[in-house]
Amino acid sequence: MARDLIYLDYNANAVPRPEALAAASAAMAHVGNPSSVHTAGRKAAAILAGARDQVAALADVPARSVVFTSGATEANNMAIMGAPQQRLIISAIEHDSVREPAHRAGKDLVVIGVDGHGVLDMNALETALNSAPEPALVSVMAANNETGVIQPTADIARMVHDHGSVFHCDAVQAAGKIDLAPITAVADLISLSAHKCSGPMGAGALIVRAGTGRTPLINGGGQELGARAGTENLSGIAGFGAAAEMALYELRDMTRLVELRDALEAELLALSADIAVAGRDAPRTANTSCIVMPGMPAETQVMAFDLAGIAVSAGAACSSGKIHQSHVLKAMGFDDAQTRSAIRVSMGWQTKPQDIEAFIAVWKDIYSRADKGAAAKPEMVSG
Ligand code: PLP
Repeated sequence: MARDLIYLDYNANAVPRPEALAAASAAMAHVGNPSSVHTAGRKAAAILAGARDQVAALADVPARSVVFTSGATEANNMAIMGAPQQRLIISAIEHDSVREPAHRAGKDLVVIGVDGHGVLDMNALETALNSAPEPALVSVMAANNETGVIQPTADIARMVHDHGSVFHCDAVQAAGKIDLAPITAVADLISLSAHKCSGPMGAGALIVRAGTGRTPLINGGGQELGARAGTENLSGIAGFGAAAEMALYELRDMTRLVELRDALEAELLALSADIAVAGRDAPRTANTSCIVMPGMPAETQVMAFDLAGIAVSAGAACSSGKIHQSHVLKAMGFDDAQTRSAIRVSMGWQTKPQDIEAFIAVWKDIYSRADKGAAAKPEMVSG
C-alpha cells in the first residue's frame, strides 16, 4: 500500500502482507485443477494442502477440519443455514452475515443482549438455552468488528455444551489479534476470513469440529470432502495460507498497537466528558477503537478524514444509499445521537505512531466544528 494514505480501516480490509500477495500470485500462475489427477493437478492439490496446514496452524486445529469458503459471509451462512438444530440463539452484536441467515432460516430464534460494555448477557443465554429441551445452535462472535470487544468464549462454550447444544464462533476479527487456540479448543464451528488478517478478499474458512453435523450449502463436485462444492479459489486460498502464517507472528505486534490505541484514546477523552470510547472497560482487541464525537455525524467525519488522506469507518453501516444505525452500539445502550456520531479506527501491521498523531490532529480539528450541545439534545441529530 502506498504510504501517503494513512489507512486506519484494518477491520474492513487489512493491508495485505507481501507474503500473501506473493503466494496468491504464484498460485494463480499455476495451471492445474486441484481435483485433476495429473501432475499439474497434484501440484495444485499440494498448494491447497499447504494452505490448509497453515490455516489449521493459526487456529490450532487438525487440517481436515478446515473447510475453505469464499469468505466469512459464506462460512457464517454455512454454520447457520446448514445447522440441523431447529433452535438458533445469536448475540445482538453479530455481524450481518450471522444475523441475516439467522432471521431467514425459518427456525426458532432468540437474540441475546449485551451489557453497556458490549459483553454478552450470560444470564439471558442460560435462560434461552433452558427455555426448551431441544439443543440449539448458539452463535456468538469472538471479537466485535466495530468495538473490538472480546466475548467470554470459554464460559459461553461451557454453558452451551452443558445444555447439549452446539457453539458457533465468528472469529474473523480475532484472527491475528488474539490467540485463537483457546477459542478453537471450545467452539464446534469457527468462521475465519482471509482479508481480515492481511490475506486476499474472497477466501475464508469454516472450521468444523469432527462430529458436528451440518448440511452443505453448495452442492456439486464434492470438493472440500463434500462440505463445500466448487473448484477451490486456489490463489485466494494460497494467499490466505501465507497470511495465516504471518498472523501467528502478528500477535507479537499487539503490545505496540495497544500502546498506540491507549495513547490515542486518552488524548481524545481528555477533551470532554461527552466523548466516549465504546467498550473501553471491556477486554478488547488491541487494534480497534470506536470513538463517539457527539455533534458531528459519522459520515461527515469520515469524509473530512478522507479529505485529509486518512481512511476510517463510520460506526453506522451504509448500504443502498441508506445509513443504518449501528446495531452494536444500540445494543450497548448508546443513544441515537451517539450512535450516529461514532467512527471506528482500526490499526494494523503498517500503522505507525505518526499515523496516530496525524489522526489526532485531524480529529481535534473536526471536533472544533462539532455542535458541542448535541449530547444534551439528541433529537437534533437523530431526525
Ligand atoms: N464477520 C465479521 C465479524 C466481520 O467483520 C466480517 C466482515 O466485515 C464478516 C464476518 C464477513 O467477512 P467476509 O468479508 O470474508 O465475507
